Amino acid sequence: MYDIRLTGVTKRFEAFTAVNDINFTIPKSSVTVLLGPSGCGKTTLMRMIAGLESPTEGRIFFDDHDVTDVPTRRRNIGMVFQYPVIYRGTSVRRNLELPLLSEKLSKAEIEKRVDEVAEILDLTSVLKRQVEELDNGTRQKIAVGREVARQPKIILFDEPITNIDLTSKLELKRSMKELFGRLQQTIVYVTHDQTEAMTLADQIALMQDGVITQSDSPKEIYEKPTSQFAGWFLGNPGMNFVPPEFISVSGNKVSSPLFSQVIDMGTRAKDADTYGVRAEGIQVSLTETKGGVPAKVTRKSIGAGGQYLLDLAFGSLLAKARVSHEIGKAASGMVYTTIASENITFFDKSGTAI
Ligand code: ADP
Ligand code: MG
Repeated sequence: MYDIRLTGVTKRFEAFTAVNDINFTIPKSSVTVLLGPSGCGKTTLMRMIAGLESPTEGRIFFDDHDVTDVPTRRRNIGMVFQYPVIYRGTSVRRNLELPLLSEKLSKAEIEKRVDEVAEILDLTSVLKRQVEELDNGTRQKIAVGREVARQPKIILFDEPITNIDLTSKLELKRSMKELFGRLQQTIVYVTHDQTEAMTLADQIALMQDGVITQSDSPKEIYEKPTSQFAGWFLGNPGMNFVPPEFISVSGNKVSSPLFSQVIDMGTRAKDADTYGVRAEGIQVSLTETKGGVPAKVTRKSIGAGGQYLLDLAFGSLLAKARVSHEIGKAASGMVYTTIASENITFFDKSGTAI
């Protein structure tokens, strides 16, 4: 399998820079998710990896081969797009085997590969059906299966779940997860959906305005965002941010009315402008505790797994806390909160974690 190395890759559309000087390696045989809001350059970057678009500047390598000028059909890649590409008027089996017929493969090998991907994607029972009879989610599985059966070295996915109806979405996501666990290929998966990224990725490359701002494992990027943008974009809800008027810095020490401890930040203290804390980083107690900071519960909602999300008001400042079912159910009026120092991420004026 290939790793994909991008060096100084830039794409301009006239005066507009869609992808800006990206230097990044996508490791082989793992799942890298390009995650970011609409318009940040994900598709453009993927299309350059595919050879459907040429970089304005920079080079693209698959291992040590410079493929910048190599046409798509000679790059040994598979591609899955937002809308399922299927061959109408034929069966599912036919759809899966068609691209294999032009390769020099025995009939037995073709059958083996088709049966294998059908099994992984849960398509075995529909192999004989006509593609028109099947829902959008199943059609997208067929499009995925067809690319996988060809066994390219790299498979690129561009928001393959985004336009699938809600009922099929979860099933398709589950199938993708199963598939990715089995594949040896280098996978690049584009999405704007952070939940999808957290579920599927070995590593997330977070994009903003044409650059990759952070790349890490889902856990790492969630727990240790290097920017306010990452803290905000990842998670549901995103990180709570506390503005400068709630922070006081005295020498190396930082304090805030939201927590009772004083944090020694060393020389970084002078740059502390805002801080962020995840909803689950705010501990909530129903009774007064030592060091507990009072907050008013203004709203509560129950989420996946029975946990509650509480909207808390610390005076004029609002924050969300994720709590257990028991605490959430009982919480009303005033509660008492603590925030452990390790759950606090400070940011400087530019929004960079310090
Ligand atoms: P994403 O996939 O992250 O939503 P895209 O890569 O599709 O973003 O687009 C990034 C930016 O580049 C957008 O502002 C888009 O309008 C612009 N763009 C993409 N393709 C073209 C094109 N062919 N011509 C002009 N602008 C383009
Ligand atoms: Mg796109």
